[in-house]
Amino acid sequence: MSSDFEAQLRAVSLRVTRPRLAVLAALRDHPHVDTETVIALVRAEHPTVSHQAVYDVLRALTDAGLVRRIQPAGTNARYESRVGDNHHHVVCRSCGAIADVDCAVGHAPCLTASDDHGFVIDQAEVVFWGICPECAAGPTPERSVSSEGSR
Ligand SMILES: [Zn+2]
Ligand SMILES: [Zn+2]
Repeated sequence: MSSDFEAQLRAVSLRVTRPRLAVLAALRDHPHVDTETVIALVRAEHPTVSHQAVYDVLRALTDAGLVRRIQPAGTNARYESRVGDNHHHVVCRSCGAIADVDCAVGHAPCLTASDDHGFVIDQAEVVFWGICPECAAGPTPERSVSSEGSR
């Protein structure tokens, strides 16, 4: 498996284990997935890894800062391995699709609060809500219902 992941784990003094490498690989290929999806992805490759092991790995990686946990209001917690840049997310109200949105100007401008009330601020969370292109295009019953497609 990728030695990048091994280096990331060592950099935060976490032991390199197969479940940890598997979770990092799953999140690299599938950003913004919920816990159940991470479990399914990891177990598809490594059937011997237990549900509990994946839970534990997600917590350890999140605590170590290798994985970011996001939870837009009204949705399950999602995980991603793109960390450290305080990027934002756009969420589809209809289907829950999530995409990354870079900070609008320069580096994490949203960390500069107009009034920090004396707090030491290290994160700002902005969620853009809307409708994704697929949902905006409307339902496509023919595509999902028809069994005698053109292919
Ligand atoms: Zn949608
Ligand atoms: Zn993201």
